[in-house]
Amino acid sequence: MPNFSLADSVFQRAAEAFPTPFHLYDEQGIRNNARALNQAFAWCKDFEEYFAVKALPNPTVLRILKEEGCGVDCSSRTELMLAEACGFSGRDIMFSANAMPDDEFTYARQLGAFVNLDDVTHIDILKENGGIPKTVCCRYNPGGDFSISGTIMGNPGEAKYGFTYAQLEEGLMKLKELGAEEFGLHAFLSSNTITNDYYPTLARLLFEAGKKLSALTGLKLAFINLSGGVGIPYRPDQEKTDIMQVGEGVRKAYEEIFPEGGVAIKTELGRWMTGPNGWLVTHATHHKDTYRHYIGLDACAVNLMRPAMYEAYHHITVCGKRDWPCDHVYDVTGSLCENNDKFAINRSLPEINEGNLVVIHDTGAHGHAMGYNYNGRLRSAEVLYTTDGQYKLIRRAETPRDYFATLDMDDAFGKMKL
Ligand SMILES: *Cc1c(COP(=O)(O)O)cnc(C)c1O
Repeated sequence: MPNFSLADSVFQRAAEAFPTPFHLYDEQGIRNNARALNQAFAWCKDFEEYFAVKALPNPTVLRILKEEGCGVDCSSRTELMLAEACGFSGRDIMFSANAMPDDEFTYARQLGAFVNLDDVTHIDILKENGGIPKTVCCRYNPGGDFSISGTIMGNPGEAKYGFTYAQLEEGLMKLKELGAEEFGLHAFLSSNTITNDYYPTLARLLFEAGKKLSALTGLKLAFINLSGGVGIPYRPDQEKTDIMQVGEGVRKAYEEIFPEGGVAIKTELGRWMTGPNGWLVTHATHHKDTYRHYIGLDACAVNLMRPAMYEAYHHITVCGKRDWPCDHVYDVTGSLCENNDKFAINRSLPEINEGNLVVIHDTGAHGHAMGYNYNGRLRSAEVLYTTDGQYKLIRRAETPRDYFATLDMDDAFGKMKL
């Protein structure tokens, strides 16, 4: 079931204070999730969540998560800059490598971040760009399919990430020769899982591999990084993961494989932390009846790309009409000249009139952050609904000045009155 923790009046008051569209985030909900996660792993002496910055790269949100004891997972120079500006440093930053510029390693090392290598070739790059640290993390890709109780949950064999097992053996030996003393092991094998078994299954796989690699190389296994992937119920018929159960499942595997303890656990949840605590608040601005019935919103895929990109389901409600029968079938669209700019297709909804406040649920992760500027459309504002019931602008909406900012070498735009 999508998150219905906020009353329609909260959205209505927000829309009186700020022009739509905007994303509204619930501070209390975000804090509650951080606390629940920390509680689910309280059995582990050394646990830390590194919030995946890409899910919701807003400094106000990052500072809230910092107050709740979280670190950050960054994958680019600008994400590292954001982390640094918000006061994160050292071992509260995970830098997840990918096909990225070499000098980003140097910056991550300057900040004292953990570096999570994505490939065996990264070892030489890190050596030349910041140097090999005492503790280094490697990303594991076991290949093939990843199944839980016989159900295929992901296809690591087709994913661009991680070392093969043989490369881990070779890579860790090399890291040891270059001065590393201990290692972390990371894997991300399935995205948006809503079974309670994902983390426990992944944990067992990583615990066993880590233990074997430690015995082989003589390097100490410092931590297991379970990464992201715990999902949220976007659809009304889906159930929420029970994070306490998830933590318990990981504990069972941990106590079996590491009875003597001593291995830290890290997570990098993005979606699970903030996804349900964001809503895209829009007005219905158009309706159109042709071969289908269309409702046009003042938001478009620029504000929330997931439906267009992944055909992702996002629940939609109409403020003041929660109890109305869903006896109309609409395609709910934005304004892009692009037919996949639809937030919903053939969706049963209450009757929608122009001027109605329409709320798109679960936009708190991979929502605003995926925004782009196609068709010259501008990205929206972000508003925080604070724990004391205030509405705080935490990112303004873009203006044409932002859109044209990169044309400052062109006189026509340099001189433009914006
Ligand atoms: C995207 C990502 C995450 C977060 O994934 P969610 O599905 O949002 O939990 C965590 N770690 C890494 C390395 C990622 O790329």
